[in-house]
Amino acid sequence: MLIAKVLGDCPACGYGRFGNAGVMADHVLRGCGRCKHSEQVWLPPLRKKVLYLDQPFFSGAFRGGDPRYVELAERIQHAASVQLLTIPRSSIHDWETRLWSRGNELLEFIKRTSRGHTFERAYNIELRQIIRGFRRWLSGDDATYPVEQRGALTQRVHVWDDYFFVDVHHEPGDTELQRQLKQQSTERLLDLFDGWRQSDEPFEQSVAGELAGAKRLYVDAFLTYFTRVGRGDFSALFDSPINSRVVEQMRHFLPEEMPFHDMLRRCENFFDSEHFANLPYQYLRSRAFATLRGMVRNGAYINRERARAKLGGFYSDVDHAAFYGPYCDAIALDQPMAELMEKPGIALAEKFNVRVFSLNHLDDFHEWLDDLEASMTDEHRQALNIAYPP
Ligand SMILES: [Zn+2]
Repeated sequence: MLIAKVLGDCPACGYGRFGNAGVMADHVLRGCGRCKHSEQVWLPPLRKKVLYLDQPFFSGAFRGGDPRYVELAERIQHAASVQLLTIPRSSIHDWETRLWSRGNELLEFIKRTSRGHTFERAYNIELRQIIRGFRRWLSGDDATYPVEQRGALTQRVHVWDDYFFVDVHHEPGDTELQRQLKQQSTERLLDLFDGWRQSDEPFEQSVAGELAGAKRLYVDAFLTYFTRVGRGDFSALFDSPINSRVVEQMRHFLPEEMPFHDMLRRCENFFDSEHFANLPYQYLRSRAFATLRGMVRNGAYINRERARAKLGGFYSDVDHAAFYGPYCDAIALDQPMAELMEKPGIALAEKFNVRVFSLNHLDDFHEWLDDLEASMTDEHRQALNIAYPP
């Protein structure tokens, strides 16, 4: 057996390489470097807090210039290492680190802090919420959406972490193209502002407009895909946008003999329903954009240069919060995004029972970590010594 932490002599053969081979979720495997002797030492069950750090927070901590971030980052890493906290990495982190010139170093920091834990990919969360909401709608359940953490975490996080190593590599991708797309989407957003300033659309109507836009996207993408396949263009199976799969998957929950147009109408009715509006991602995303619209109408972001600097990452910053916020105990966001998420039309913290932290409320963040550290039991402390001997 390969021994990671040597503790002493083997009780069976006396050889001096007996110790911990690994931490296996709920127990430590101990063994001997020479004979077949092994032991299991059971560890108490864990319930870690799930914390999400958005990109600006991660990059601030990584650059290390701001001592406020550095101190906080060290405390967070410590709480993760003593198994009180987990900070899973998301597909949005992976995507965004490629846009940074020192992306490899940043990715290494993220992987080290997340200790190998990952969230479900953003698209899977979107799809799962829609399918679950659709099934609830079909069976006449009420329009609330019960958020369950396991719906967003690809693996069990409430386990004792194994000894891990950091492997750093970027998924292949065209970084320059991504950077351009990000810039273009920001410019398109800023282009909308003149129109928004002149409209007097009430908030709820803006929300409904955003949800209708999402519906159009899913339905149109599906129809394009369906038409292509119908024409015999089977490359559509491989190169269609991922959004086209939403309605395709919803069809599986409708009777097979249902005529195509009835099927489509059923799906459209769902997209118009309160059930759809209440899906966590759709709820937060539509309200974030409707709130921004209201702020612009009330005179915010008049200077385009300054708006560009502040809203450069708006789409992905909204995504961090909208995809992952509802599944976490706490989320640390960039200042403007934290402010947005606190607006009454969104109220991320109250709606999804998640603490929202930002640089402007660092005391709250430290207090939360104080409470977390104080909550450690003696049993937990003993288990730490067994699993990770000093
Ligand atoms: Zn032995």
